[in-house]
Amino acid sequence: MKHVEEIIESMEYIITLKEKNMKNWEEIFPSFNSLARESYKELKKFNMIEDMKKILSYVKPLNMLPPERQTKRLHNLKTSLIDLKNKYLISQTTNIKENKLNLFTDIKYIKHVGTKRSNLLKNLNIENIYDALYTAPRDWEDRRKVKTIYNISDGETALIVGKVANMDEVNINKGLKIINFSINDGTGIMTISFFNQDYIKNYLKKDTICAFYGKAEYNFGQKQMKSPDFQILENKNNLQNKIIPIYPLTSGISQNIMRKIMKQINPQIYYLEEFLPDKFIKTFNLLNINQRLTGIHEPKSSYHIKKSLITFKYEEIFLFEYAILNSKKKIKKHLKGYSKNINGELSKIYINNLNFKLTNAQKRAHIEIREDMKKESPMNRLLQGDVGSGKTAVAEISIIDNFEAGFQSALMVPTSVLAKQQYQKIKLNLEKINIKTELLIGETKEKEKKEIKDKLKNGEIDLIIGTHAIIQNDVEFKKLGLIIIDEQHRFGVNQRLSLIQKGSSPDILVMTATPIPRTLALTLYGDLDVSIIDEMPSGRKKVKTILNSDNNLKNIYDFIKDELKKENQAFFIYPLIEESEAIDLKNAKDMHEQISKIFSDYNVGLLHGKMKSVEKNEIMEKFSKKEINILVSTTVIEVGVDIPDATVMVIEHADRFGLSQLHQLRGRVGRSNKQSYCFLTTSSNISKETKTKLTQFSANNDGFKVSEIDLKWRGPGKFFGTQQHGIPDFKFIDITEDLKIIEEVKKYIEQDNILDDKKIIQEIKMRFKNSTELIKAI
Ligand code: ADP
Ligand code: MG
Repeated sequence: MKHVEEIIESMEYIITLKEKNMKNWEEIFPSFNSLARESYKELKKFNMIEDMKKILSYVKPLNMLPPERQTKRLHNLKTSLIDLKNKYLISQTTNIKENKLNLFTDIKYIKHVGTKRSNLLKNLNIENIYDALYTAPRDWEDRRKVKTIYNISDGETALIVGKVANMDEVNINKGLKIINFSINDGTGIMTISFFNQDYIKNYLKKDTICAFYGKAEYNFGQKQMKSPDFQILENKNNLQNKIIPIYPLTSGISQNIMRKIMKQINPQIYYLEEFLPDKFIKTFNLLNINQRLTGIHEPKSSYHIKKSLITFKYEEIFLFEYAILNSKKKIKKHLKGYSKNINGELSKIYINNLNFKLTNAQKRAHIEIREDMKKESPMNRLLQGDVGSGKTAVAEISIIDNFEAGFQSALMVPTSVLAKQQYQKIKLNLEKINIKTELLIGETKEKEKKEIKDKLKNGEIDLIIGTHAIIQNDVEFKKLGLIIIDEQHRFGVNQRLSLIQKGSSPDILVMTATPIPRTLALTLYGDLDVSIIDEMPSGRKKVKTILNSDNNLKNIYDFIKDELKKENQAFFIYPLIEESEAIDLKNAKDMHEQISKIFSDYNVGLLHGKMKSVEKNEIMEKFSKKEINILVSTTVIEVGVDIPDATVMVIEHADRFGLSQLHQLRGRVGRSNKQSYCFLTTSSNISKETKTKLTQFSANNDGFKVSEIDLKWRGPGKFFGTQQHGIPDFKFIDITEDLKIIEEVKKYIEQDNILDDKKIIQEIKMRFKNSTELIKAI
């Protein structure tokens, strides 16, 4: 016998055949007819007879109808089937029950919970009723169909219904007692075994009719289920064959207990008020709050589950985007920036003096930034561009524009090494335009610091470069108009907010070399506008990336020797500074010694994070002057370093690094028009997955592509460093898969302008209570 969902699915299937012209109306009608006849009992049970009659009338062959009417009929038929699904496969009514509870009621007051279990439930992030309702099952068991013992196969998880025929007990040893029941369902016998559960004897008496749900095994020619779920039935018709949720668990809370707890809580679903706008639900054809929650906890059909899960995706991203857009609006409303007067004369001089031509992408980004700076509302823009795409040039031009309008600028970088390097370069470039630049980092001497701060306050400095020392509270500016933050992935949302809250509202430009796909950036950093440099300076050759197992190193050494003869330079990168007891990996210090021996005709330098910053600078200086030919290093060289003649990089234990990190590292070579090479080595026993991942990386030079691959492999949580970016751990949305939904919803909220709704904001606070940054922002 088919259940309702199967009946409707069968009809859908037959219609698909018609659509594909594999069947004609004359064949369809009898198929529908016999389906109706053989499911009569079921149709009756669900009061579906009338609807079925209607459907049958729709599929009657009417040959005299013209083709367009035939098409229309087919279309109507499909619509009727969707109506059937919504009517019979999804819960409809709002039951009125007593005992309405506050959603914030501590879970410990729920029957079957108590203090001890409520503490365990905290591991699942369940503290109150609301949390429990939004704990999605990880899967569902379909117990709607009864399988016969005769038909059940080895390893199949299924529901059987039969009579207890026999019982025996086996004492294996003192600690283990097995109780075996023989169950007969008329088609065969199955042994149902329980271990150390004596009390079950009281339930499963001879001739009791009982349903068992579990995994069938064939052992020594016998069919067996071990510790299945069971339900005692008066007769076979009492069977509650439903779809049952499988909840995530934590140690100390079994599936059975979890289900019992949820059973206590589920009635509360019917009291919940919808917070999604009516129009939103209609636009995207979603389920209402009662339907979608019953759809996961007490689903009527797999269609019900599916529709609920889609609705939850929409719901979740609705709340998230709403929070972001709401905070964006708030920032915009409270902050008045400067409307800058930029005529572009100064930047023209600078651009004409460059010894290269700006790429179109650089020009575009610059125009976007300039337009923002002219507007009164403060700029809040992300500049994404691959390593070496020329972001610094764009930053310099923006600083010049800002200077021309009469404002000071601040450039903030993540490390002091990088600050010094940027300082040396940028100072030279901007001096020609009379921009006065200073460096302020943690290690700047106190006396000098004080001088610099004074000069910033009275406007004698136009550009300050440094680490976050430059945004500390005691640093005051005369007229700060532009803050540029380099390498955004190290700065959190909060730091950005605290910058904005510093009183005045300077323009903010965040630069990142960890690009993410544009749509993703736009939707996730809803409060930022995005500029993208998606074009490399002309003449750049792609870095050739070669994946090797490390027993190939000899060949790589030979290759490098040839490069060194051409006056080129090389990097060797290791995951560790020195030997570690914990992991057996090559380290920079030991390899420095080895490589010095192998390349005894050349100077080999060593660079790592434990060195003092003076030492590090010295080494980098020597490497850039070619006094050092080979640099053995850890990842400290990750950002910013610019050595045009470095043409080879060897990254050992490449599987130890994330793809985005590898890409950053690789960006240190290929910074001129010479052909460069990146060798990734791994031991030969890395997993197949890792190998695939690294192969994909080797084939892709584009940072956007690499970040997509990285995102796919790592998942959003790890990719973004959730905490830092205030992006919550989504329960339903998969930000790599659901981009389309994210975009649709964002557009909807923007257009509908439904911000500042109290009910929705309340819901956001409950839903994302662990994302403090997000909550703070709304
Ligand atoms: P990013 O900060 O994006 O990694 P940089 O701004 O440091 O890249 O630029 C890398 C190198 O490319 C620098 O040496 C810079 O002078 C040079 N460069 C920048 N723009 C261009 C261009 N349009 N054409 C040629 N070289 C460029
Ligand atoms: Mg840079």
